Amino acid sequence: MTDNIDQLREFHWMLDMLQNIDAGLIVLNRENEIQAWNSFMENHSGMLSSNVKNKNLFELFPEIPIDWFQHKVESVFQLHTRAFSIWEQRPYIFKFKNYRPITGTADFMFQNISVFPLKSSKGEVTNICIIVYDVTDIATSSQALESANQQLEFLSRTDRLTGLNNRGYWQECQEQEFARFQRHHHSTSLLIFDIDHFKKVNDTYGHQAGDEVIRMCARALLSCAREIDICGRYGGEEFVVLMTDTDSKGANIFAERIRQLIEKLTIEYDTHKINFTVSLGVCELTDSIKSAQQWLELADQGLYQSKQNGRNQTSVYQSK
Ligand code: GH3
Ligand code: MG
Ligand code: MG
Repeated sequence: MTDNIDQLREFHWMLDMLQNIDAGLIVLNRENEIQAWNSFMENHSGMLSSNVKNKNLFELFPEIPIDWFQHKVESVFQLHTRAFSIWEQRPYIFKFKNYRPITGTADFMFQNISVFPLKSSKGEVTNICIIVYDVTDIATSSQALESANQQLEFLSRTDRLTGLNNRGYWQECQEQEFARFQRHHHSTSLLIFDIDHFKKVNDTYGHQAGDEVIRMCARALLSCAREIDICGRYGGEEFVVLMTDTDSKGANIFAERIRQLIEKLTIEYDTHKINFTVSLGVCELTDSIKSAQQWLELADQGLYQSKQNGRNQTSVYQSK
């Protein structure tokens, strides 16, 4: 007798605990009708257990994709195995608002769910239990970490002054392009250019004015470049561009467009009006060029020639 009372008391405790646990508990029958619905589900859905009892889950929550869900629970009914869904795959099953103060940035509660079979005394599975975990804290901090990593990666390959690719990252891209040429033999060209008499800009107007000239030069470059051109700041006042699917003729046209645009630019700094020019070198990649470094050196020879010939001009390195 006391045994029975003890068992009954334990059963009530158990119900109480399940009722108050900080996770959603739902029991569904074969027809997807709700058989149990704990306080967590009541609080977040705003629907009382008495109002959802024997109602069809999909009619109450049209946001749940029926086919996806049926497919998941089928194995639970048929094979008596567990099924899961994690927030990375599907952020939520029930579209509950997120009320957590720390993770206030998330509009909805991120959820993991676990589904397992409930066996009758005969060993048949006529019902399943769904547990809904609120994983908003984990999901938002993982997303914040991911976005911080992306930002870090962006910063590590970006030149601070101009926002162009920095030398290290641009060189990586150039190596890749060189390797790609070995396989596909598509036309690809490289442009390098340098601001003429830049020391004089610094000496006359100050270093800050010089910085502004570098920044404007980068902006002019970006305004001429196509989406696929990879522009970089190679050094102080030296810029580089990788142009895929472009032969030396096309690269020369592009280089001249930049040169002419920069020639016409006037930069206003304090009360000064600063004009400047650039010298450019172009080199199309050919089989006779043996490394990415040599490719850049040959373009640089073009640049040197432009300087020698009086600056403010483009020279195309013609490889044999
Ligand atoms: P050239 O026509 O032969 O290129 O003459 P140049 O005066 O431009 O000569 P050079 O390339 O040797 O000079 C580059 C100068 O650029 C030297 C350096 O003080 C300055 N410089 C390098 N990096 C920066 C920078 O980030 N900001 C500023 N303001 N100046 C820089
Ligand atoms: Mg210079
Ligand atoms: Mg220089």
